[in-house]
Amino acid sequence: MRTPVIAGNWKLFNTVAESLALVRDLKALVADAQGVEIVVAPVFTAIHAVAGELKGSTIAVSSQDVYWEESGAFTGEVAPCLLKEAGCAYAIIGHSERRQYFGETDETVNRKVKAALKAGLIPIMCVGELLEERESGKTMQVVAKQIKGGLADLPADDIAKIIIAYEPVWAIGTGKTATPAQAEEVHKSIRSLIAALAGTQVAVGMRILYGGSVKADNVDELMGQEDIDGALVGGASLKADSFARIVKFNK
Ligand code: PEP
Repeated sequence: MRTPVIAGNWKLFNTVAESLALVRDLKALVADAQGVEIVVAPVFTAIHAVAGELKGSTIAVSSQDVYWEESGAFTGEVAPCLLKEAGCAYAIIGHSERRQYFGETDETVNRKVKAALKAGLIPIMCVGELLEERESGKTMQVVAKQIKGGLADLPADDIAKIIIAYEPVWAIGTGKTATPAQAEEVHKSIRSLIAALAGTQVAVGMRILYGGSVKADNVDELMGQEDIDGALVGGASLKADSFARIVKFNK
């Protein structure tokens, strides 16, 4: 009922040439994958070339961030309409690295989500708790605050277009994955929260991805959970064979 999404976040890796080589290999490896949305998120400078290379394939392109204005004196920023023009269909918003190093807040996430939707991009909105927040029993409190803030003032039909990525910060790039049970517990709570915010129908249809050290050897167990609808993958998306195996997870 919910089409799974496997998205690769390349972070600050790969030149244009390396990005093109990676998607050429990936295209061949996932050509037979069915019933899954496949997304790659290159650095800004490679988006246009990668989107051109992927035209006609089953792999879509995402940005790793977006700004909320369409144009103006905002040096260094990239507008949603420009990302769309360059070939993006999705925009990752509120990744924990942006929250941690670049001052992203729930309020800026909310502005970016609204702007992305307006431009016709599908936001992949990231949320997740720090280790100390998990250890002090605050996981759902933190995640609920991020979701309510990120989705503030959005009508239910806009919320329905969004993908949420639950990424416990302590699991990103650390090799420590949340256990399938730990992830499922949070995903289930997120779905209940979405039901409260936007109604049961929106909650039932919403794709909630897990992110945090997803690899070829743990994806099947994670995807076996009822409320895990896909993965946001960092490190393991940088090699075509490991990402292709994740795309071809066994549920
Ligand atoms: C990410 O960048 O969103 C991520 C989950 O990274 P990794 O898979 O490397 O933990």
